[in-house]
Amino acid sequence: MTAYDPNNIFAKILSGDIPSVKLYEDDDTLAFMDVMPQAPGHLLVIPKQGSRNLLDADPAVLAKLLPVVQKLANAAKEAFEADGVYVAQFNEAAAGQTVFHLHFHVIPRHDGLPLKP
Ligand code: ADP
Repeated sequence: MTAYDPNNIFAKILSGDIPSVKLYEDDDTLAFMDVMPQAPGHLLVIPKQGSRNLLDADPAVLAKLLPVVQKLANAAKEAFEADGVYVAQFNEAAAGQTVFHLHFHVIPRHDGLPLKP
């Protein structure tokens, strides 16, 4: 299994070295707007603990993370008056992962409006 790289972009967001538009924070979790949204309201939820992706994450970290994903999925659905919410998570480059710190995409979806490519 590939090791976690503590110099990834999201680690720098956590340390404050890279700015972000923060939406939610607690002792274990941070949520912020995606800088290249695939649809209005596209946000990311990450654990503060350094996990590369779901494959190496501590189940205790996941247990704290998923309720926040749920909370923000509902909040984004309401805030953007969406018809549904896309929640996605990629593991390793072959699966589309480009930032190697565990994150969940939360994207409000509207009937008939496709995601940006
Ligand atoms: P993909 O790039 O294929 O969506 P990931 O699941 O690894 O793969 O997603 C990384 C996400 O991080 C992308 O949606 C990208 O727009 C976002 N991103 C990259 N840099 C930043 C940043 N500095 N602030 C917020 N979001 C970022």
